[in-house]
Amino acid sequence: MRKLWNSNRAAVRKYWSEHELEDIQYKNISKSAKRSSRLDNATGEYQLRNSLQKLGEGTQHQSLTPPSSSPHSASVVTNSDISPTPYSPMSPTTTRPSKKRDRESFESSDHHAAGIQDELNQKYLLKSSNSAHSDDSLDLDETDELVAMITSVRHKDCNLWVLDDSCVTCMTDKYKEASIRALRARELKKSEPADIMMLAGTFAPWHPTPMMEKVFSKNILKKIRDSLSKKLEPIDDQDADMSILLSIRHRANNKIKEAVEALNGVKDLKLRLLFQQIVEELSAGEQGEMSEETLIANHVSPILRAFTHDPELKIFAHFPNTNSRAQTQQGVKPDRPDFKVVAGNKEVAFGEVTGPSQRNDRNKNGWDLYRLARFGTAVLNQGTEVVPLVQVVAGSGTIYRHIVKDRGVMVLAEVGVFSVPTTTIHMGALLASLPALNWLRDCIKWLDDHSESLIRSWTAADLAQLKKYVQ
Ligand SMILES: [Zn+2]
Repeated sequence: MRKLWNSNRAAVRKYWSEHELEDIQYKNISKSAKRSSRLDNATGEYQLRNSLQKLGEGTQHQSLTPPSSSPHSASVVTNSDISPTPYSPMSPTTTRPSKKRDRESFESSDHHAAGIQDELNQKYLLKSSNSAHSDDSLDLDETDELVAMITSVRHKDCNLWVLDDSCVTCMTDKYKEASIRALRARELKKSEPADIMMLAGTFAPWHPTPMMEKVFSKNILKKIRDSLSKKLEPIDDQDADMSILLSIRHRANNKIKEAVEALNGVKDLKLRLLFQQIVEELSAGEQGEMSEETLIANHVSPILRAFTHDPELKIFAHFPNTNSRAQTQQGVKPDRPDFKVVAGNKEVAFGEVTGPSQRNDRNKNGWDLYRLARFGTAVLNQGTEVVPLVQVVAGSGTIYRHIVKDRGVMVLAEVGVFSVPTTTIHMGALLASLPALNWLRDCIKWLDDHSESLIRSWTAADLAQLKKYVQ
């Protein structure tokens, strides 16, 4: 995208006008198959479309995604966008998916495929540079270019994300239009990050804004959130539950030795060590004001490491001062997360932390959430199925899953919240947080097991430069 952004404006405009050509069959392929199939994609596109039309499918929307097999019914979100078999025998160039891929997806309701956009960008950009005629587009200002990027990817099938007989993606398009008007009027606010995120292709229904509520209504927004909510598994280890409760009680009575001993009933070594550290290191009362760095080092890091760091699996939690590799690889302006998880050599999860002194700074926290979605978008654009994102503000954290829901629409869905105890009083709240933290752990392990990327016909535009338009 960065390359595109820097190229001449006529070429950019021409590119976007031809963008509709790039609709290509969703494909699921393994990493190794991907390498060998990349060359085929460029030449295979026309064949694919042709053979599909011969089969009499997909002509209405020019979408090569297999049509929905089940009619949608009222108040049910259909998941046909996420057909578990998005490949089909429609073309000799279609690559068979790996066996691994046939296994159940972690996002069982959110299958999707990801992008050969790089090749297409190269191809069409090259073509349009050659044929670009200059005069009519020189008057485009930067906002117009931004808007062109924002509106470049459109969905073509209104049956893929349906709620109460309405296409939710069409509603997100309306919301996006409202956000574009706010962008032109310089009315976007960091404190309302969902409006900014929608421009970058991510819908964040857990962060409603007046503009979002106007487009969707509160009632519909609630239905959308309900349909995207994850049912978290309660912790099934009763012994661990009882042991931690007993430990908390001892600690409240200042019996630290007994509190540590009680934790012996916790079989999960990481969980036991986490609570042991909390019992030994936290005091019953609040310390003075704490910096963001201290919060991360002493309180956030032990919890996130316990649920993400696993050297044996080569999964490493970083609290880095380094740029996002996924963004660097895609040539977009790299940013630095407070926390990231790397599995193998791939970034799989990101986190942002705000210290107690800025806990009520809605601009800071809103912009952090937008930055998190940018990290997530860069990874989703590489063909990952889901990106877990974590935002911690002082003593409480929120876990999100960033997913693709329809062509051009990603969703930032809340999974659950967790407590970051800074005193022993909040130990019980951490115990209650375990289902959400276990989801984070399981999702990262699933991603490590399924590191092959999917192929999708589009990528979300990166809008790093939005900041200067936002108050
Ligand atoms: Zn629609």
